[in-house]
Amino acid sequence: IVQWTPFFQTYKKQRYPWVQLAGHQGNFKAGPEPGTVLKKLCPKEEECFQILMQDLLRPYVPVFKGQVTSEDGDPVYLQLQDLLSDYVQPCVMDCKVGVRTYLEEELSKAKEKPKLRKDMYDKMIQIDAQAPTLEEHAAKAVTKPRYMVWRETISSTATLGFRIEGIKKSDGTSSKDFKTTKSREQIKLAFMEFLSGHAQILPRYIQRLRAIRATLAVSEFFQTHEVIGSSLLFVHDHNHASIWLIDFAKTVSLPPELHIDHYSAWKVGNHEDGYLIGINNLIDIFVELQAA
Ligand code: ATP
Ligand code: MG
Ligand code: MG
Repeated sequence: IVQWTPFFQTYKKQRYPWVQLAGHQGNFKAGPEPGTVLKKLCPKEEECFQILMQDLLRPYVPVFKGQVTSEDGDPVYLQLQDLLSDYVQPCVMDCKVGVRTYLEEELSKAKEKPKLRKDMYDKMIQIDAQAPTLEEHAAKAVTKPRYMVWRETISSTATLGFRIEGIKKSDGTSSKDFKTTKSREQIKLAFMEFLSGHAQILPRYIQRLRAIRATLAVSEFFQTHEVIGSSLLFVHDHNHASIWLIDFAKTVSLPPELHIDHYSAWKVGNHEDGYLIGINNLIDIFVELQAA
């Protein structure tokens, strides 16, 4: 369980509780420079940030300021721009984009020795008693690859190409309870709640999402990477709003001869991530909310 406020951040003489909507506790801490945070180093993620700092997507990701090693024997961290630092009591939402949130290699590894897992069967029936097949019910167990594929179908990930990971409102109320938020209607209700009291922000989010889509279409980084488990971080307060791409720990460069369009259906081995399915659905849903 992640703590909402792992630490207090100080910026321009203001002290505010920092918000963490996903990830492990202890993965983040306040940065050594004002307006920065530290995220525990993952070499793959650092590689992505290095490329992104030279890419057309740069305005849409937190500024990467290099590695930081702390004296107290802590692990190495990436120093990133704190995306919350220009906001006053911000509302924050993390949406994980794509039709799957595991890498092809994680699935093939799970398939190597597909042991029957009772724990995964138990998790499955807790959410949906109808989900296991007759065989699986008889064995009271499922394999890990089977569980991994099924898990993406309980949220909107497999169908809409994104899911809500967490929402924190400016009044402090919050939820991470979106594991089974799946239908378009459920998503719309959650977005409406996120925006309530700030309807003037909606056109800015739509504009920003469209700018992100247009930039993805010309980004060298996006053309050459499979983007898995990455999120869009939505942040607004009374005055302004923005959206950034974050979390590249599972974003990997594609084999050189392989091309994906980020939109075609994923089949095992084709590396499609469905990132643009998610972006398009997000734009459509926000536009529907504006018309409502
Ligand atoms: P997971 O893989 O479980 O999603 P993670 O450890 O890779 O987690 P991130 O997803 O990068 O971590 O970040 C977790 C949360 O921390 C985000 O949902 C967001 O609330 C916050 N966060 C991350 N980076 C920033 C940033 N640069 N500025 C402000 N908030 C951030
Ligand atoms: Mg994340
Ligand atoms: Mg991550």
